[in-house]
Amino acid sequence: MNLKADRLVHPFEVPPVAGEAIEVADGVLWMRLPLPMALDHVNVYALDDGDSWTIVDTGFDSEKSRGIWQMLLDGPLKGKPVARILVTHHHPDHIGLAGWFQTKYGAELITTRTSWLMARMLVLDEQKAVVKETIEFWRLAGMPEDILQRRLRERPFNFADVVAPLPLGFQRIQEGSKIDIGGRSWDVHIGNGHAPEHATLWSVSNDIVIGGDQMLSTISPNIGVYATEPEADPLAEWLEACERLSEFARADQLVLPGHKLPFTGLPWRLHQLIQNHHGALKRLRAHLHNPRTAVDCFDLLFKRAIGDGEYGLALVEAVAHLNHLYHLDELQRSLDEDGAWRWQLKG
Ligand SMILES: [Zn+2]
Repeated sequence: MNLKADRLVHPFEVPPVAGEAIEVADGVLWMRLPLPMALDHVNVYALDDGDSWTIVDTGFDSEKSRGIWQMLLDGPLKGKPVARILVTHHHPDHIGLAGWFQTKYGAELITTRTSWLMARMLVLDEQKAVVKETIEFWRLAGMPEDILQRRLRERPFNFADVVAPLPLGFQRIQEGSKIDIGGRSWDVHIGNGHAPEHATLWSVSNDIVIGGDQMLSTISPNIGVYATEPEADPLAEWLEACERLSEFARADQLVLPGHKLPFTGLPWRLHQLIQNHHGALKRLRAHLHNPRTAVDCFDLLFKRAIGDGEYGLALVEAVAHLNHLYHLDELQRSLDEDGAWRWQLKG
């Protein structure tokens, strides 16, 4: 395969505005919902099942999102019912309104078992203050005391703030599942690393891939470690998934991602997504002769200043890279006087 001949192409360069849709393939509508973050939107799709729609991903649960969905349902979706919601992974920008569609419109939820369990668990776990395990995790990562104290004064992020309650019951898809949606048959392959058991759908006719956040074109999906599983190695899972999914990738498939623009050139993009992390690991190996905390590694990993809006994402991503080298037995770590891990090359 000549990867370089098949670089990224974005066939649709202008995204749909709120309340409107762009038909990107026969019976496949691309729409967007806003997000109140640096990454300011999520892509959602509607697939035409004839007398009803299957929606792929939903946006956050907010008054604004519900209003935009109402505009979409009355406008481009022509008042036809939404019978099914397919959710690629459990993150709130994707599953946020699934429960609303289930409860209000009687739609059926289709997702992976891990996505459903994670979302249903997190939506019930509402906290008024940051829990002690998270504080400990931040300390271990080397978060400076002033930033930590500021975060403790704020209400912590709660999944339930942006995700509607999920009623009981869903239809499970898993590796190897086959499903018919919108006049196409799809093979389900499972991604990992960005979110556990992330569904990706590959049309049997090989024209379309529903990529979720497993395959984004111009930004690298966040690979993070959290206080829920502080020793996790999601980067290993990410690299394994990208390599495994590469076997199904073709340069001419139209990839429908969770953010940014639809694209072709998936084999090249998957290669790039793998190489980006190998590059970051290489920079860590070159500089960890002297011990550093995870926060001390931001400059090596991101090669730019990290602002407030991306601090949390940068922290979990830095820990992911260090954990990966640690699990490869290339690093040792010890606690410093501030209670942070200082990571250093072995030997
Ligand atoms: Zn997302």
